[in-house]
Amino acid sequence: MTSTDPSAPSSATDPAADAARHARVEAAVREMLTAVGEDPDRDGLRETPSRIARMYTEILRGRGLDPKRHLAVTFAEDHHEMVVLKDIPFDSMCEHHMMPFTGTAHVAYVPNGSIVGLSKLARVVEEYARRLQVQERLTSQVADAIFECLEPQGVGVVMEATHTCMTMRGVKKPGASMVTSAVRGTFKSSAETRAEFMGLVSR
Ligand code: ZN
Repeated sequence: MTSTDPSAPSSATDPAADAARHARVEAAVREMLTAVGEDPDRDGLRETPSRIARMYTEILRGRGLDPKRHLAVTFAEDHHEMVVLKDIPFDSMCEHHMMPFTGTAHVAYVPNGSIVGLSKLARVVEEYARRLQVQERLTSQVADAIFECLEPQGVGVVMEATHTCMTMRGVKKPGASMVTSAVRGTFKSSAETRAEFMGLVSR
């Protein structure tokens, strides 16, 4: 077990830079409102640019963070069977439309001498989700981080999400969800391990 603080942000926040970013987003949203024919000074919209700027700070905050730091603290454990964390809720933003996609993630690994707290796996999902993303990359990033940091025998990640850019616009298919998976190590090489994983996460 290492002594580094796993929950410390990877980079300190700079208040001046944050304020400058906030002001730019505000100005951009104001411009966008005008461009779509709205009056950004009418009652309901007056605070909207500032609200959106604050919201982006929150929902895109993962961009400046390194989720791998949550996997820095591991525990030696002679367990070589599959560990699964199911139904981790996540919210992310589609980078093609800047609209939300939300769903659940299932994360599994087969340890190779070291294990990690389950809440850390959820934090890894959360931080990779809190940035402009595509679901495919999000799924791979979670799998790669665990595979790299824990050096397990294998990792499997399945994500299922509803994309508002698909349910509200374009093909408009409410209820349709997208499922992505990423497998590493034994989850890739062994059909049996993969089948066990899929059996555990599918209802
Ligand atoms: Zn999209």
